[in-house]
Amino acid sequence: MSSPDLTDADRQAVLDVLNTPILSMGQHTPAFEQAFCDLTGAKHAIAVNSGTAGLHLCVRAAGIGPGDLVITTPFSFVASSNVLLFENAIPIFVDIDAKTGNIDPFLVADAANNIEKYLPRAGATSQSPLRAILPVDVFGQPADMDAINAVAKQHDLTVIEDSCEALGATYKGRQAGTLGDFGVFAFYPNKVITTGEGGVIVTNDDKAAAFMRALRNQGRAPGDTWLQHTHLGYNYRIDEMSAALGRTQMSRLDELIDKREQVAAWYESRLAEIPGVEVPFVEPSTTRMSWFVYVIRFDAKLNRDEIAKRLDAMGIPVRPYFLPIHLQPYMAERFGWREGDFPVTEDLGRRGLAVPFSSVMTEEQVETVCQAIREVVSQA
Ligand SMILES: *Cc1c(COP(=O)(O)O)cnc(C)c1O
Repeated sequence: MSSPDLTDADRQAVLDVLNTPILSMGQHTPAFEQAFCDLTGAKHAIAVNSGTAGLHLCVRAAGIGPGDLVITTPFSFVASSNVLLFENAIPIFVDIDAKTGNIDPFLVADAANNIEKYLPRAGATSQSPLRAILPVDVFGQPADMDAINAVAKQHDLTVIEDSCEALGATYKGRQAGTLGDFGVFAFYPNKVITTGEGGVIVTNDDKAAAFMRALRNQGRAPGDTWLQHTHLGYNYRIDEMSAALGRTQMSRLDELIDKREQVAAWYESRLAEIPGVEVPFVEPSTTRMSWFVYVIRFDAKLNRDEIAKRLDAMGIPVRPYFLPIHLQPYMAERFGWREGDFPVTEDLGRRGLAVPFSSVMTEEQVETVCQAIREVVSQA
């Protein structure tokens, strides 16, 4: 489905760390963080050992706790909602824009304006406060953050931007991840850059940044010794091998995004011509797409799962993207969500298929995939 894009310089950077005794909390972590301040202009960047850990620290820093309400999207990777459940907060799901798959800002406004209407459906019995909005930049395309921020401002809500799929993307010329109060990037091997496992939080909030640095390091505040812990914290530290790899990967960010853009263009020119196949839509407000996955949609008349099975049998790995969060068994059980609750999310969940995608794909490989899709769709 995907492949990391690694050079000899990347491999050497990791080896160089292994030739020193400092495998954690060394010089590479702050240098890796600086690369994110340089890219985004954010005042603070905090490296952690996964995107999920980064999102969790944002939830803690925003003071989101038991029973608190957070407006978010059911069309995402589960981590964006799980971090709310970690703190016993309640996700208030709203449906998405059918074109982009990003959270629908009109529904965000409706939820903020009429929160009591949303409580029974969200399984919320308490009149807990609405605290935050957690939009996701889905598939590398920024959410409509100006509209979301306007709602946040009106209702005094914190905005946590899940940019785990959108490193380097821009919205109206501004960097993804910097559009809310907090932004988070992730570096699992299928992401735009990889550190193996890893994540980075960016924010301009001095107090929150200091708090998140303490929580990342087992709750040690500045001045605490190794065995003193001011806060309940975690081990969310990134190791030096990952941070060193992240530095060399970040130095190639533009190249990696451009290569992905090229692969997406190869796909688009071929797939847009196949009847019954819809290619991704890019909003005019997306001034740079940071392609994370390439997800096509099939006409409702075509059977996506059957097509996926046939492609798989032809040696073309494909994957439905996303399975809606509200229908994941533990979510449905805990909050009582059912099929039909978020029709747009469910529709995209039924019709979307991610095809093989990475910066190292060749045009020939793209052609092979597209030829297989042509064949299977024409017989469907
Ligand atoms: C990848 C991803 C994450 C978290 O990433 P990990 O590093 O695997 O924890 C969170 N949200 C979204 C939308 C993602 O795609």
